[in-house]
Amino acid sequence: MVIIIQLNERQEKIIKIVKERGPITGEQIAEKLNVTRPSLRPDLAFLTQIGLLEARPRVGYFYSGRTPNYGVIEQIMKLRVKDYKSVPVVVTEKTSVYDSIVALFVNDVGTLFVVSEQGILEGVVSRKDLLKTALGKIDVNQLPVGVIMTRMPNIITTTPEESLWSAARKLITHEIDALPVVRKVSQHGGEKIEVIGRISKTNITKVFVDLGLGRLDILGGKND
Ligand code: ADP
Repeated sequence: MVIIIQLNERQEKIIKIVKERGPITGEQIAEKLNVTRPSLRPDLAFLTQIGLLEARPRVGYFYSGRTPNYGVIEQIMKLRVKDYKSVPVVVTEKTSVYDSIVALFVNDVGTLFVVSEQGILEGVVSRKDLLKTALGKIDVNQLPVGVIMTRMPNIITTTPEESLWSAARKLITHEIDALPVVRKVSQHGGEKIEVIGRISKTNITKVFVDLGLGRLDILGGKND
């Protein structure tokens, strides 16, 4: 896998300073860059993590001279959707907007997937879709959710084998909160997609937190 890491302007400057003056403390680097020490922390952490800089207690930072160690980043890319997905919360097209709102609360989610009786994906309805409808004068007990949902084929999906990173990127690019995890099934001679899970911003955030706590066994990789 080829991973290209572009250092930002400040990181380039830090590398230059450490190359010339290392070992040098974080305080001294901050002084040279005219910024505060805390504001440098993320850049220093990143440069240390990829192995370009090394940090020694009471001595400071020095340039490792090594090719960046992209191990951690590479391992993050190996996390798969299937290992982090949640159970999907689904309704059918005929479910009323009222019952859909109840389903949001009962299941503590922000997005519902709309499926056929056979579990085939037909649409997605978000909390704001429902909120907008509830603000109108329409009777939410009578209105089926199929009328207000975002409909196939305009649904952004992910698959069990896709990387979690790539799924996270879809959430950001399309400005949405959740993706249905799907698999292809053949039905009536055609190919349809069946909903088998859910990836939301919460799943991604949990992984991020676990990573920081050292709870994620990413270095050993997750077994299937
Ligand atoms: P909210 O509307 O509560 O902010 P989202 O940002 O997830 O939640 O949804 C924004 C819009 O995109 C909504 O109209 C919703 O129906 C639609 N949407 C949500 N998820 C998807 C998806 N996976 N694919 C396509 N459209 C989606």
